[in-house]
Amino acid sequence: MVGRIREDSIVEVREKARIDEVISQYVTLKNAGGGSMKGLCPFHDEKSPSFNVNPARQFFHCFGCQVGGDVISFLMKIDGLSFGEAVERLADKYGVQLRREDGDIRDDRPKGPARQRLIEAHKSAQLFYAEQLGSTDAIVARQFLSERGFDQAAAETFGIGFAPREGDALFKHLRQKAFSQDELVAAGLVAVGRSAYDRFRGRLLWPIRDASGDTIGFGARRIFDDDKIEAKYLNTSETAIYKKSQVLYGVDLARRDMARSSQAVVVAGYTDVMACHLAGVTTAVATCGTAFGDDHSRVLRRFLNDHEEFRGEVIFTFDGDAAGQKAAIKAFDGDQNFVSQTYVAVEPDGLDPCDLRIQKGDAAVRELVARRVPLYRFVLSNVVKKYDLDRADGRIDAVRETAKLVASIRDQSKVTAFAQEISKMVGSDIDTNAVLTEVRRAANRRPSSQDHARRTPAGTPPVEEPAPTRNPVPDLRDPRFSIERETLKLVIQHPMAIGRTTSDVGVEDFTHPTYRAVWELVAAAGGPVAGSGDDGWANRLRDAAPDAATSSAISALGVEPLLTAKEADPAYVALHVFRLLELTAMRRIAAVKSRLQRTNPVENPHDYNKMFGELAALEQHRRSLQDRALAGGV
Ligand code: ZN
Repeated sequence: MVGRIREDSIVEVREKARIDEVISQYVTLKNAGGGSMKGLCPFHDEKSPSFNVNPARQFFHCFGCQVGGDVISFLMKIDGLSFGEAVERLADKYGVQLRREDGDIRDDRPKGPARQRLIEAHKSAQLFYAEQLGSTDAIVARQFLSERGFDQAAAETFGIGFAPREGDALFKHLRQKAFSQDELVAAGLVAVGRSAYDRFRGRLLWPIRDASGDTIGFGARRIFDDDKIEAKYLNTSETAIYKKSQVLYGVDLARRDMARSSQAVVVAGYTDVMACHLAGVTTAVATCGTAFGDDHSRVLRRFLNDHEEFRGEVIFTFDGDAAGQKAAIKAFDGDQNFVSQTYVAVEPDGLDPCDLRIQKGDAAVRELVARRVPLYRFVLSNVVKKYDLDRADGRIDAVRETAKLVASIRDQSKVTAFAQEISKMVGSDIDTNAVLTEVRRAANRRPSSQDHARRTPAGTPPVEEPAPTRNPVPDLRDPRFSIERETLKLVIQHPMAIGRTTSDVGVEDFTHPTYRAVWELVAAAGGPVAGSGDDGWANRLRDAAPDAATSSAISALGVEPLLTAKEADPAYVALHVFRLLELTAMRRIAAVKSRLQRTNPVENPHDYNKMFGELAALEQHRRSLQDRALAGGV
């Protein structure tokens, strides 16, 4: 265990790290005048740049999606790193020696070669292996790929390679490139027995890359019958740069589209990731030789753009087999928020995406993902299916078994919904209340784990989970309301500039109760136009305020400087007013999407299609607002 990084070290990292340099590795930045730089936002889809970087102040901000922060938060978000990991990476790059709370400088950095050397070794190894894929020895490897529908272009896109059969071809190659034996061992590329030998021999190789595209390890498939290692797949073992509990194959390719669509597809293996991407499912990733765990979900969630009212969606392509079902049931014990956003796409014939693509083409892969169902429902129905529901005892057993799963769910509102579903699946003689009774019983039997608050002493009835405490007045400066705040600042400070742009704005566009009250006063006074040229406009509104909170909000909105150094020009007005309307559209879209997810397209094609039409219209409306926001209101 290493201690927490000390505050002074974090400050030093922030000072030394150049935010424009770091961001430039991901985003093409252009000078925007006034010391500021601009580019296309990596966190949302846009055509004209609203992503700003201010090197002097060391922060970035996107006016399109309101994501912003410092160099550390940028790295965390773009590469799915924890705070500590982001700080460590920057410290490495900018030569800052980290001090930790336990005061020991000795443990500060991982032992052994610097991260950069290990990355360089992998880069050379990947090029070497890719070149070997063209060699005569690699014919079996090439056959393997073509049998699975992957041509040379696909192999190049994914950087696939071949590890020669002789024991130390890579070792010799990299020694010539001036890598030391220690570096190669630390990188996991070479092992040492009586002498040094290559970790991968006679295998087909997939380079495993981190989010920035650097190769950090390899996945290796057995292709020769006389391969002495029986395991079908070998992966790089844990190294300073390769953490198998966090690594996701394909994340470098999927990252951008995951953020854009708030959706990730988790498949089983390297060939499935390839098949998905080639078929147009560009958000596919896979774990590497390990089950999907909490660390993976943590990493994925950082890539999913789940800000504001959007919720990311993670789709697993479990096959219906025992292993897949076991994995699904295990997911119930994982992170609950994550589970509620989890879906399952099951191919009726049990084909994985790779085989599906070979047999039925690209469209079938896309349809598989589109047919997803919520994980909960999938698991519950699988459990129910194991029992003979024609028998009374079979029905009772099915309820007991499913109740155990539902008892692990913390959100009480969901528990009731699932009890209803179980009752429907099992049969009419077991109603929702009977299921709920079983769930409570199961909850009492559950061994007390980390979650003490929920546990009750044996024998006493379980206490209902207290409803989440709801703050009646959310913080005015909460970033979720920043567009509402800035728009109202324009309304109060620059009524002339904002003028009739707000003709489509209504009270429903404000989600904060105080801001809603302010807008109601503005509307009652005749809209911003009524304040045009009236020096007493802000005071007039304030006098009409129904309560102290609204009145103080108005004065704050009246004095706070705009978030722009420039004038409140039409472009700035449009950016906010249309973005405000766009957010309302996004909330509506989210509501329709959520209904859509709960509707089975096969059972209710009419409703489903109707909602789909509604969604398409809303999306179009949203896009036009987005365009107007960025076009400066023209
Ligand atoms: Zn953005």
